[in-house]
Amino acid sequence: MSQAVASMGLIVVGAAGRMGQSLIRTIDEIDGVHLAGAIERTGSDALGRDAGVLAGLGPNGVTVTDDALPVFAQADGVLDFTAPAASLEFADLAAQARIVHVIGTTGMSESDEPRLKAASRHARIVKSGNMSLGVNLMSVLVRDAARALAAADWDIEVLEMHHRHKVDAPSGTALLLGEAAAEGRGIDLATHSVRVRDGHTGAREEGSIGFATLRGGSVVGEHTVMLATEGETIELSHKATDRSIFARGAVRAALWAWPQKPGYYSMLDVLGLAG
Ligand code: NAP
Repeated sequence: MSQAVASMGLIVVGAAGRMGQSLIRTIDEIDGVHLAGAIERTGSDALGRDAGVLAGLGPNGVTVTDDALPVFAQADGVLDFTAPAASLEFADLAAQARIVHVIGTTGMSESDEPRLKAASRHARIVKSGNMSLGVNLMSVLVRDAARALAAADWDIEVLEMHHRHKVDAPSGTALLLGEAAAEGRGIDLATHSVRVRDGHTGAREEGSIGFATLRGGSVVGEHTVMLATEGETIELSHKATDRSIFARGAVRAALWAWPQKPGYYSMLDVLGLAG
């Protein structure tokens, strides 16, 4: 006799965005989840539209709204790829509703962390600058490489390229990879990173982690971490060709977090790569 399996009700906030539409399509494809709500900001052209039609599917009966509170009260989780200020407000609402909050939004600052940590006393928060399996595995490889090549004459540089619409730099993924390298080296990224170089910069500071940012066209996301010393260079690279890898990772994170205790988790926890 087959048993009914509960389906997780997921809200997509920023439903009209690039990631929002990809999330709506991905939820439609994956068993065990369904779209429980679609939120956009007040004044958005998408308000009142059918979320399925908005994402290029057939009508699914979920109307895009800016009234988040009643929608959160009826759902099991929220998938959030929006903007830093919005994600902080959604974290407060997720805590009130005691649901899962998957945060893919990048460009958040250190000063946002206490509010997210406070929300995670009641919400199950999974936050990552990159939700793909490939990048999270790459971060483990980068950490291990930086640890093995700990001598300061191995220079570490992080190069990234994204589409022309991206508003923050370096990308959340570049910072995630920089953090992994810093962890491997046993140093603090904030005090060892060089985010921009321009003009007469002087020689490279030993032991620093450098970042370089490219923007153009429709590139979904490309990252390379270089470890370079006299006479040799190692490059670890990842290329994303389709946003659905992030959307699938976000749904996987939500399903993983559903039975967990309230807390603040990363994709490494979800993928079993932590530690
Ligand atoms: P986007 O196309 O600009 O989408 C963002 C959406 O959020 C827009 O529709 C925006 O509406 C909406 N929004 C902003 N504030 C809101 C609010 N208060 N309430 C409801 N909706 C709100 O950007 P995107 O390319 O999808 O990327 C979104 C974020 O995800 C960025 O931070 C990006 O870096 C990040 N990202 C992360 C990953 C990852 O794996 N972690 C992968 C890809 C992208 P308006 O257009 O009206 O402002």
